[in-house]
Amino acid sequence: MADTIIRGGTIVLPESRRTADIRIEGERIVEIATELPGGGQEIDARGLHVFPGLMDVHVHFNEPGRTEWEGAETGSHALAAGGGTTFFDMPLNSSPCTVTAAAVARKRAALEAVSIADFGLWGGLVPGSVAEMPDMVAEGVVGFKAFMCDSGMPEFPRADEETLWKGMSEAARLRVPVAVHAEDDAIVRRLAAEVSGTTAREFLASRPVKAEVEAIATAVKIAGETGAKLHIVHVSSGRGVATAAEARARGVDVSLETCPHYLFFTDVDLERIGVAGKCAPPLREEAEHGELWNAVLDRRIDLIASDHSPCHPSLKKDGDFRASWGGIAGVQSTLAVLLERGFDGRRLRFERIASLIAATPAERFNIPDKGTLSAGYDADLLLLDPSRSYTLESRRLLQRHKISPYVRSSFTGTVVRTIRRGETIFADGTITAETRGRFIRPRHV
Ligand SMILES: [Zn+2]
Repeated sequence: MADTIIRGGTIVLPESRRTADIRIEGERIVEIATELPGGGQEIDARGLHVFPGLMDVHVHFNEPGRTEWEGAETGSHALAAGGGTTFFDMPLNSSPCTVTAAAVARKRAALEAVSIADFGLWGGLVPGSVAEMPDMVAEGVVGFKAFMCDSGMPEFPRADEETLWKGMSEAARLRVPVAVHAEDDAIVRRLAAEVSGTTAREFLASRPVKAEVEAIATAVKIAGETGAKLHIVHVSSGRGVATAAEARARGVDVSLETCPHYLFFTDVDLERIGVAGKCAPPLREEAEHGELWNAVLDRRIDLIASDHSPCHPSLKKDGDFRASWGGIAGVQSTLAVLLERGFDGRRLRFERIASLIAATPAERFNIPDKGTLSAGYDADLLLLDPSRSYTLESRRLLQRHKISPYVRSSFTGTVVRTIRRGETIFADGTITAETRGRFIRPRHV
């Protein structure tokens, strides 16, 4: 590949931004400076912001085995349309789940064949999989995901406290993180059994903030005892953040992720949106939503991931919150949400966004050569027109099924181009990728 110069954009770094040119040689950034001499291809970025490519550490593309729900081809297209260049796929809801090294290798091959984005893979921590953990690490997983409550998939049972303890001990020895879905099983099970109806309100009542807080308390206790590196996925409440932050202050190595939907919607919106907005933990009331935003702004939240979890449309049953699949399909809208709501009086700085969507994910999960715009790094980046507004119509979604709670929402800030390792994979609304994404392994630490 010839040199490419990205000319005159405002380059967003985790601590600062500046107007400069970027020279890309092949797959890498080789130089960032003003007035670089021309040569090969030129991309005019004047008036645009250049962010590092978004790294979404939490998606369910359901491949192999459930591609009728999504698949990594359409999933990675939607990711790229939102400025994404890398994703980590969760161990469920593919089939088989990645709870063995063989299943990890199988998923890797399936994704290499169709994904246009680079990708890492999570292994699964379930009862009985602890002995498989070293082989999964050898296969290159970024870490292990466990559910503290029912996952909704019988083949991916929840990790009881003994499994969590053994798994975190083993993960500490292997020097890889454990990610947990933190909702207390006993609380959720008891409340779900009491629900007789199908409304949004009844669903919300079955998954209270208390369930999240209790589970986070358990997870940080075990992480503290075992020395594991803990990552709490999709924290949904201010009280959940506070519980983890206290543990971090005591020295527990815990990072926090939240998702765009908790930052965009509240429980009141859920009644309007319907089952497209059903997820677990659920959308929260205004006070928790506000506290979650405060945690993003004051850096207690480390990173943002989509938890893109689509399903076949037949599994979203209009008006029936009890029977519908829980999962929000939002992989295309993460940056859009941060731009739209972050500037709605909150002054979320572009530099902070670059950290939340790229630099911190790469750092936390030891991904080499990605996450920041710097010489020597992979040329993963997105060009943003910060002033161009749009209303998200379902036809603009590149995911397989055009169901998303963000449809008909308005956003200011449009991704006009996404570049993955030097190749433009998305431009002006169209997928342009000619090569496939690559499997990435964490740096051995
Ligand atoms: Zn998930």
